This record gives sequence, structure tokens and C-alpha cells, in this order.
Amino acid sequence: MIVTMTYLTVPIAAANADEAKSQIKTALTAGAEMLELRTDYLENLTVEMVVDLIAKAKSAYKKPIPIIVTCRDHAQGGANEYPENLRIEVLSAAIGAGAEFVDLEYENFFSIANQEKIRRALSQNPKSRLILSAHNFEGKFPNITKLYRHILTLYSAAIPKLVYTANHINDCFEAFDLLHQSSGERIILCMGRAGLISRIIAKKLGSLVTFASLDNESATAPGQITIEQLKKTFSSDSINSETVLYGVLGSMVYNSASPAAHNACFAKAELNKLYLPLLVEGGENEFDEFMRNVRVRSWLNFAGFSVTIPHKANALNYVRQSGGVVEPLTEKIGAANTLTLDTAQITNSGPQISAYNTDYIGAMDAIISKLKIDKSDLKDLSVAVLGAGGVARAIVAGLTDAGAKVCIYNRTVEKAEKLAEEFGCDFAGLKELESLDAKLVVNCTSIGMEPDVDATPLPQEYIKKDMTIFDTVYNPFETLLLKQAKEAGAKTIDGFTMFVEQAAEQFKLFTGSQTEPKLIEKTVIKQRSSK
Ligand code: NAP
Repeated sequence: MIVTMTYLTVPIAAANADEAKSQIKTALTAGAEMLELRTDYLENLTVEMVVDLIAKAKSAYKKPIPIIVTCRDHAQGGANEYPENLRIEVLSAAIGAGAEFVDLEYENFFSIANQEKIRRALSQNPKSRLILSAHNFEGKFPNITKLYRHILTLYSAAIPKLVYTANHINDCFEAFDLLHQSSGERIILCMGRAGLISRIIAKKLGSLVTFASLDNESATAPGQITIEQLKKTFSSDSINSETVLYGVLGSMVYNSASPAAHNACFAKAELNKLYLPLLVEGGENEFDEFMRNVRVRSWLNFAGFSVTIPHKANALNYVRQSGGVVEPLTEKIGAANTLTLDTAQITNSGPQISAYNTDYIGAMDAIISKLKIDKSDLKDLSVAVLGAGGVARAIVAGLTDAGAKVCIYNRTVEKAEKLAEEFGCDFAGLKELESLDAKLVVNCTSIGMEPDVDATPLPQEYIKKDMTIFDTVYNPFETLLLKQAKEAGAKTIDGFTMFVEQAAEQFKLFTGSQTEPKLIEKTVIKQRSSK
């Protein structure tokens, strides 16, 4: 396969020449490798304005970078409604003015008159290349491969550009397949939040271009990421065809701290690995389909996942059903938050898959390190666990495994009873917290989490000086429960320490080596403070 260079391209979508000049300067400073002049955004568009803009863009930097000139048809997402003959004139003039690429909707190339004008301009400047594009804002193309071939039949020297909305992450795999099966210069991307990963891994799969916006407000297509995010969080300069992929799977991964944290650790260890936010909406069926899609395409090099809400139980079921390996305590917990794929061991369903739960390891490490004790010191310790959901299961499993005496308090008492029965503990309703007499109290409810930061699961008067209060909630870093515990003179363990420890444990499962928890801590704090 011929490896195509991928240009990190910033669209310049300005209403006038001054605005465009300022956007060009910002894009070049931010590290754009190509500019797309979206001339359909210019008000009172004329051919002269475009020629002048190309000259400005070419002289804006010591080393000129390639330019795409686009005058998008309003019917295909263009900003202003300009007549077809003006749009064709603009592109022809752009070719004459030295634009490396012009982008024309392939449907508008059907017209013989348009073809003649564009072909004539191209023959006068053979260095300029024609991108023939098709966009589908609704969803997948009926047959993307046929469309790709059709464009090349229309004009064999064209660069086909096929961009469609992925309504689900599973829709992206058609785009990845076409990139994998074709060679040469082509641009294949998915729009929408579910299509975000296609923009990040475009460089791995060899799309000629990936687009990034200057900021969240100036995106010219749904799901476009900013150049800063692409460069900093996803280290786009280091991505290549060999890059091994990881990611967090869940329904609310857009603002997850995990990509920044894991990518910082990969970069520090100088590993050619990339961690992605993988928006897997829906339930078990969609989750299973995603896993199948990934495992049959070993060339994508996916090697591991963090799993979050709502797929932790789905992840475990999938691994069980596809004959994978489940770590014993993860089996007992009934939920997995980490999956690894071993490409050296290929089974009928793809690389060997294994399931782990680092939530319990992270929680146990947080307790042991903050209290400066050994696991054996937890034997017979009286512990109150507030909550009976997913995190409570993991922590109850870890604590009972270490021999602690656990009582589970939950709003829905039946759930506490069921969990207590499974792990041989006591249970109670939240009202009984009045007579709380535990040495360690662990909040596994979501009470106190953003935006309800003034709420606490445990009234302050129940907190005693000789207690240790552990709040698994880590957004905010210091919850009201932890503030009140400190005021009462109790020891505290914060949920962020658990988050950091579980992420470090995942890094170990992904790479076989240790990372510095301090690096994860620093990266997440920096990311949060920049929001
Ligand atoms: P979950 O399965 O949905 O369980 C939520 C628990 O909170 C249930 O026991 C629920 O009680 C209880 N609850 C929720 N709202 C309540 C209210 N208003 N009053 C009383 N009880 C309430 O969620 P999860 O996955 O276990 O996550 C729980 C929390 O753990 C998250 O909010 C997150 O902050 C934290 N967490 C931390 C980490 C970390 O690394 N630090 C990792 C994962 C999660 P019912 O059973 O009565 O509904």
C-alpha cells in the first residue's frame, strides 16, 4: 500500500478579506499544514477577491503551505447561495492563481460546460489538482465504494472526497474499509460526534486531508475537532500507519479526562500508541457490534479499551460469550472497565480478548497508599459502603477480598441486600447511618457530583474524628463530604486518587510497564483548569 501524507487542514471561513487574513495567521501559528479557503463564506464574492486572498495566504508565512479553494454549493452545505457559473469561475481562477487543490461537488462536474472550464484551467496549471467531493449530511452513502469508483470514472485524475455523517460509531467502519482497500490520494471522513475518530485517525489510514477548526465556534462541519485538541490531546504529529489504538468506550466520553491522561503517558514512554474517545451509544447490541467491527479489522491495530457507563456489564458479557479470559475478581464483580486485545493470539473472533476491573484495584490502591497501610491491615476493619451500584460492587469485592467487615447502606435497600448477600456483608437503609460506627466510610453514590456540589450523602454530625472518609466522586476534586470530613478532623481519601490509580493500572495492562501517576494527575488537572 502506498502511504499518503495527511495534511492537517484548517478551513478559513471568513466573511471578508480582513477576517480571512487574521484566521490565516492564527491557523499558521497553530501549526496548520494546509489551508482550505472556503470562499462561499465571503460576502459579495468576486473572482478578484479570491485571487487576492490566495496571494495573501501564499505570502503569509516564510514557507508557503498548500491551499484548497472551495466554493461550496449552497445545496451541499455552502454558507452563501452563489450561482453555479460564479462558483466555477472562482475555481478556474483559483487554479490559475496557483491553488494546489480546488474542491468541486462531483455532481456539478456532470455538466459538460463546467467540465470544459475546469479541465481548461487545469491544463494551464498542471500542478493544481481537482478534488471531486460528495457529502451526505443525513447518514451513510447507499454504496460508498461504487460512488468512489464513479468519481474516478468521471475524471481519473480526481481526488475523490467522500464525507458522510456517522449516526453511530459503527457507521465509521465503511469509511475505514474504503481507506484501507484503496490507495493514492483520497479524502474519506465521517461527520458528527460519532465520526470524530475518523478525523483523528485519518493520518493512520492515509486520508489526504483531515480538517480541524481554529476553535469550537468556527467549525465548518459537524464534529470537527480543534487544531489545538488534535495536536495536543491526540499528538497528531506522531500518528502514522503503525500507531496502535486504544480508547474509552461509553456514552459520555466527549469530555472524558482519559484520552488526555493516557496519551500523555504514551508520549512520555515514547510509545507509538494513541488513545481515543469512542462514543458507543445504545446498549449491548451496539457494544457487541463495535467489538466485532474492531476485532475483524486487525489492521486497525486496536489493542485495548477503558469501559465506562453504560457498558461495563456489556463488556464482561461480550468477553465471556466470545471465549475470552476474565480475571477472577472481575468475574465476581460482574463488570469490566478494561479490555485488552492480544494480537499475537488470534482466535476465531479475532485477537484474544481479556477483561479486567481496575476500579477495585484503583480504590484499594488509593486506600492503602493514603492510609500508608498494607492490604493485610484491612482484615476485620469495619467499613461502611454508601451505595450499591457499579462502583460499590467493585469496592465491596476488593474490601471483602481483603477480609474487611463491610456494611452496605443504600437508598434502595433491596439492592443493598442483594449485594450484601453476594459478598457476605451486612446491609442497611440510609436512615441507619445515624448509628454509623465504621472506621472507613466509602461513598459510592453519585451524591455531591457536579452540578449538585452542595449535596452530601452523609450528614456532617455523623462524621467522627477517628474515621477515614473516602469519596469516590472526583468531579469536583474536593466534594462537600470531603470538606466536612476535614473540618471534623477525619482522614480523607479523594476519588481523584482512585481515578489516577485505576488509570495507571490500565496503563500497565495496556503496555506491560508502569507509568507515573503524577503525570496522570497533572494532565487531568491542567485539562480541567483550561475549561
Ligand atoms: P450507579 O451504578 O448508577 O450507582 C449509583 C448509586 O448512587 C446507587 O447506589 C444509587 O442508589 C445511589 N444514588 C444516586 N442518587 C442518589 C440519591 N439522590 N440519593 C441516594 N442515593 C443515590 O453509579 P456508579 O457507576 O456506581 O458510580 C457512582 C459514582 O462513583 C459516580 O457518580 C462517580 O462519581 C464515582 N466513580 C468514581 C470513579 C473513580 O475512579 N474515582 C470511577 C467510577 C465512578 P439507588 O440504588 O437507590 O438508585
